[in-house]
Amino acid sequence: MPQRHLRDAAADAARLTAPSGLGLDSSHVRRRMVQRLQQAGVHDERVLQALAEVPRHEFVDSALAIQAYEDTSLPIGHGQTISKPSVVGRMIAILMGGAAANRLGNLGKVLEIGTGCGYQAAVLDRLARQVVSIERLRPLHDKAHANLQALKLTKIRLVYGDGRLGHSGSAPFDSIIAAAGGDDLPPAWLAQLAPGGRLVAPMVAPGGKGQVLVVVDHVVEGGVGRYVRSEFEAVHFVPLKSGVL
Ligand code: SAH
Repeated sequence: MPQRHLRDAAADAARLTAPSGLGLDSSHVRRRMVQRLQQAGVHDERVLQALAEVPRHEFVDSALAIQAYEDTSLPIGHGQTISKPSVVGRMIAILMGGAAANRLGNLGKVLEIGTGCGYQAAVLDRLARQVVSIERLRPLHDKAHANLQALKLTKIRLVYGDGRLGHSGSAPFDSIIAAAGGDDLPPAWLAQLAPGGRLVAPMVAPGGKGQVLVVVDHVVEGGVGRYVRSEFEAVHFVPLKSGVL
């Protein structure tokens, strides 16, 4: 982040800790965060609006709330992190560009793998018809449930389970987004991606060095479906693991 943005972020953090009117101040601080994300390359207005609406500080420990509107990942317990707002914005903007999302004018039915604290699910809620979000760690699943209930979001279904299996009962999905990266794309995700649907996920780069964002489109032409895969920039996500805990 350029120096000026760092200074802005520090000033905003100070505002969040100010004793007066946290609610009002936090929406101001959030708008400033969105302006910085815009300057950092997130341009989709609908995504920026959704990021401006979700109170990220309510998804992290109160001790970390002052950092909630900096563009940084933060610990949420159990060795996991809430993703950077710019990465959440970037991935959702990529999903908005999928064929099904273009046709529907929104993300349609979304599968999220890795609920974590529920922040990204709350952003998705504003842009989707329905969100199914899976988490393999019970304490985080419960925490997300409490966080989202407080915001009275009704389009999100939280599932405790292994997200590598997707959620066949709710498939097919117009959009699939993973918040944890593995060595491969689980076959269930592709099988559950609707025609015209788009998937975005971090994945270990070929050669095993770091992760990249992978995008897969389920293209159908002349009644024949195929998966078109592209790779984007380097990213850093927690590992996608198997089974539940
Ligand atoms: N979107 C989250 C980010 C959470 S970090 C947020 O906004 O807070 C990624 C999460 O993926 C972690 O909570 C981790 O436990 C979870 N995860 C890793 N492998 C998984 C799997 N196979 N199924 C479901 N969740 C998984």
